[in-house]
Amino acid sequence: MTLRTDSESGREPLWTLVGGTLLGLLLLRLMGRPWWCACGEWSAWSGEVKSQHNSQHLFDFYSLSHVLHGFLFWWGLQWLMPPLRERWLLPFAVLLEVAWELAENSPIIIQRYRSATFALGYEGDSVLNSLMDIVCAAVGFLIARRLPWKQSVAVFVVVELLMVWLIRDNLSLNILMLLFPLPALKVWQIGR
Ligand SMILES: [Zn+2]
Repeated sequence: MTLRTDSESGREPLWTLVGGTLLGLLLLRLMGRPWWCACGEWSAWSGEVKSQHNSQHLFDFYSLSHVLHGFLFWWGLQWLMPPLRERWLLPFAVLLEVAWELAENSPIIIQRYRSATFALGYEGDSVLNSLMDIVCAAVGFLIARRLPWKQSVAVFVVVELLMVWLIRDNLSLNILMLLFPLPALKVWQIGR
Protein backbone atom coordinates (compact mmCIF):
# COMPACT_ATOMS: atom_id res chain seq x y z
CA MET A 1 0.00 0.00 0.00
CA THR A 2 1.33 3.43 -0.88
CA LEU A 3 0.28 6.59 0.85
CA ARG A 4 -0.39 9.46 -1.47
CA THR A 5 2.00 12.30 -0.79
CA ASP A 6 0.88 15.88 -0.47
CA SER A 7 1.80 17.16 -3.90
CA GLU A 8 2.22 20.88 -4.53
CA SER A 9 -0.32 20.86 -7.35
CA GLY A 10 -3.00 18.98 -5.39
CA ARG A 11 -6.47 20.30 -4.86
CA GLU A 12 -6.67 19.08 -1.27
CA PRO A 13 -6.63 22.60 0.26
CA LEU A 14 -9.51 23.71 -1.98
CA TRP A 15 -11.54 20.59 -1.22
CA THR A 16 -10.88 20.99 2.47
CA LEU A 17 -12.07 24.59 2.31
CA VAL A 18 -15.24 23.85 0.32
CA GLY A 19 -16.00 20.54 2.04
CA GLY A 20 -15.44 21.95 5.53
CA THR A 21 -17.71 24.91 4.79
CA LEU A 22 -20.52 22.75 3.36
CA LEU A 23 -20.27 20.33 6.29
CA GLY A 24 -20.43 23.24 8.73
CA LEU A 25 -23.53 24.67 7.03
CA LEU A 26 -25.19 21.25 7.07
CA LEU A 27 -24.48 20.92 10.80
CA LEU A 28 -25.88 24.41 11.44
CA ARG A 29 -29.06 23.43 9.59
CA LEU A 30 -29.31 20.20 11.57
CA MET A 31 -28.84 22.26 14.76
CA GLY A 32 -32.09 23.99 13.85
CA ARG A 33 -30.86 27.21 12.28
CA PRO A 34 -33.18 28.52 9.57
CA TRP A 35 -31.89 28.98 6.04
CA TRP A 36 -33.02 32.59 5.98
CA CYS A 37 -34.72 35.36 7.93
CA ALA A 38 -38.28 34.58 9.04
CA CYS A 39 -39.42 37.87 7.47
CA GLY A 40 -38.98 36.27 4.05
CA GLU A 41 -37.67 39.42 2.38
CA TRP A 42 -34.68 38.88 0.15
CA SER A 43 -32.68 41.98 1.01
CA ALA A 44 -28.97 41.20 1.35
CA TRP A 45 -28.34 43.89 3.98
CA SER A 46 -29.90 44.31 7.42
CA GLY A 47 -28.99 47.62 9.03
CA GLU A 48 -31.00 47.40 12.26
CA VAL A 49 -29.00 45.65 14.95
CA LYS A 50 -31.82 45.36 17.46
CA SER A 51 -34.29 43.71 15.14
CA GLN A 52 -35.40 40.25 14.17
CA HIS A 53 -33.44 40.67 10.93
CA ASN A 54 -30.01 40.89 12.53
CA SER A 55 -27.76 37.92 11.67
CA GLN A 56 -30.56 36.59 9.45
CA HIS A 57 -29.80 38.27 6.12
CA LEU A 58 -26.53 38.01 4.19
CA PHE A 59 -24.78 41.01 5.71
CA ASP A 60 -25.19 43.33 8.69
CA PHE A 61 -22.85 45.39 10.88
CA TYR A 62 -21.51 42.24 12.48
CA SER A 63 -20.14 41.12 9.11
CA LEU A 64 -17.32 43.55 9.89
CA SER A 65 -16.48 41.55 13.02
CA HIS A 66 -16.15 38.44 10.92
CA VAL A 67 -13.76 40.25 8.58
CA LEU A 68 -11.67 40.98 11.69
CA HIS A 69 -11.73 37.28 12.61
CA GLY A 70 -9.79 36.79 9.39
CA PHE A 71 -7.20 39.32 10.60
CA LEU A 72 -6.83 37.45 13.89
CA PHE A 73 -6.50 34.12 12.10
CA TRP A 74 -3.80 35.50 9.83
CA TRP A 75 -1.81 36.90 12.77
CA GLY A 76 -2.29 33.69 14.75
CA LEU A 77 -1.29 31.42 11.90
CA GLN A 78 1.88 33.45 11.36
CA TRP A 79 3.20 31.75 14.48
CA LEU A 80 2.16 28.35 13.17
CA MET A 81 3.66 29.07 9.77
CA PRO A 82 6.58 26.62 9.90
CA PRO A 83 4.48 23.47 10.36
CA LEU A 84 1.66 24.73 8.16
CA ARG A 85 2.31 24.94 4.44
CA GLU A 86 1.47 28.21 2.70
CA ARG A 87 -1.39 26.82 0.62
CA TRP A 88 -3.08 25.32 3.70
CA LEU A 89 -3.29 28.64 5.53
CA LEU A 90 -6.55 29.90 4.00
CA PRO A 91 -8.35 26.53 4.31
CA PHE A 92 -7.20 26.35 7.93
CA ALA A 93 -8.51 29.86 8.62
CA VAL A 94 -11.83 28.97 7.00
CA LEU A 95 -12.13 25.85 9.16
CA LEU A 96 -11.47 27.99 12.24
CA GLU A 97 -14.32 30.30 11.21
CA VAL A 98 -16.61 27.32 10.58
CA ALA A 99 -15.81 26.16 14.13
CA TRP A 100 -16.56 29.67 15.40
CA GLU A 101 -19.95 29.67 13.66
CA LEU A 102 -20.82 26.26 15.14
CA ALA A 103 -19.85 27.48 18.61
CA GLU A 104 -21.64 30.80 18.18
CA ASN A 105 -24.81 28.98 17.18
CA SER A 106 -24.69 26.32 19.86
CA PRO A 107 -27.52 26.42 22.43
CA ILE A 108 -25.10 27.32 25.25
CA ILE A 109 -23.63 30.36 23.51
CA ILE A 110 -27.01 31.50 22.16
CA GLN A 111 -28.36 31.40 25.73
CA ARG A 112 -25.27 33.24 26.93
CA TYR A 113 -25.76 35.98 24.33
CA ARG A 114 -29.38 36.38 25.39
CA SER A 115 -28.62 36.66 29.09
CA ALA A 116 -25.22 38.36 29.22
CA THR A 117 -25.16 40.70 26.24
CA PHE A 118 -27.61 43.16 24.76
CA ALA A 119 -28.56 40.65 22.04
CA LEU A 120 -31.79 40.00 23.95
CA GLY A 121 -33.75 38.23 21.26
CA TYR A 122 -30.81 36.45 19.67
CA GLU A 123 -31.74 33.03 18.35
CA GLY A 124 -28.65 32.26 16.31
CA ASP A 125 -27.70 33.10 12.76
CA SER A 126 -29.48 31.96 9.63
CA VAL A 127 -27.47 29.43 7.63
CA LEU A 128 -26.90 31.84 4.74
CA ASN A 129 -25.77 34.53 7.16
CA SER A 130 -23.25 32.05 8.58
CA LEU A 131 -22.04 31.31 5.05
CA MET A 132 -21.39 35.01 4.47
CA ASP A 133 -19.71 35.30 7.88
CA ILE A 134 -17.30 32.59 6.71
CA VAL A 135 -16.76 34.42 3.40
CA CYS A 136 -16.11 37.67 5.33
CA ALA A 137 -13.49 35.94 7.50
CA ALA A 138 -11.78 34.58 4.38
CA VAL A 139 -11.77 38.07 2.84
CA GLY A 140 -10.34 39.52 6.07
CA PHE A 141 -7.66 36.85 6.08
CA LEU A 142 -6.65 37.71 2.50
CA ILE A 143 -6.66 41.45 3.26
CA ALA A 144 -4.46 40.98 6.35
CA ARG A 145 -2.11 38.73 4.37
CA ARG A 146 -1.54 41.47 1.81
CA LEU A 147 -1.08 44.34 4.25
CA PRO A 148 2.10 45.15 6.16
CA TRP A 149 1.37 44.25 9.79
CA LYS A 150 1.31 47.85 11.04
CA GLN A 151 -1.33 48.73 8.46
CA SER A 152 -3.37 45.66 9.29
CA VAL A 153 -3.32 46.58 12.99
CA ALA A 154 -4.42 50.10 12.07
CA VAL A 155 -7.30 48.80 9.94
CA PHE A 156 -8.34 46.47 12.79
CA VAL A 157 -8.44 49.33 15.30
CA VAL A 158 -10.31 51.65 12.91
CA VAL A 159 -12.97 49.01 12.22
CA GLU A 160 -13.39 48.35 15.96
CA LEU A 161 -13.82 52.07 16.66
CA LEU A 162 -16.17 52.48 13.70
CA MET A 163 -18.38 49.71 15.04
CA VAL A 164 -18.55 51.22 18.53
CA TRP A 165 -19.56 54.50 16.94
CA LEU A 166 -22.18 52.87 14.70
CA ILE A 167 -23.74 50.23 16.96
CA ARG A 168 -22.03 50.46 20.37
CA ASP A 169 -20.66 46.97 19.88
CA ASN A 170 -17.65 45.37 18.23
CA LEU A 171 -15.56 42.22 18.31
CA SER A 172 -13.65 43.11 21.49
CA LEU A 173 -16.79 44.17 23.40
CA ASN A 174 -18.63 41.12 22.11
CA ILE A 175 -16.02 38.74 23.48
CA LEU A 176 -15.66 40.76 26.68
CA MET A 177 -19.40 40.63 27.34
CA LEU A 178 -19.54 36.91 26.62
CA LEU A 179 -16.76 36.19 29.10
CA PHE A 180 -17.21 38.93 31.72
CA PRO A 181 -20.62 40.61 31.39
CA LEU A 182 -20.53 44.17 32.68
CA PRO A 183 -24.02 45.42 33.62
CA ALA A 184 -23.13 49.09 33.10
CA LEU A 185 -21.80 48.38 29.64
CA LYS A 186 -24.93 46.45 28.76
CA VAL A 187 -27.12 49.39 29.83
CA TRP A 188 -25.05 51.73 27.66
CA GLN A 189 -25.28 49.36 24.70
CA ILE A 190 -29.06 48.98 25.00
CA GLY A 191 -29.48 52.74 25.44
CA ARG A 192 -28.59 53.45 21.84
ZN1 LIG B 1 -35.55 39.89 7.73
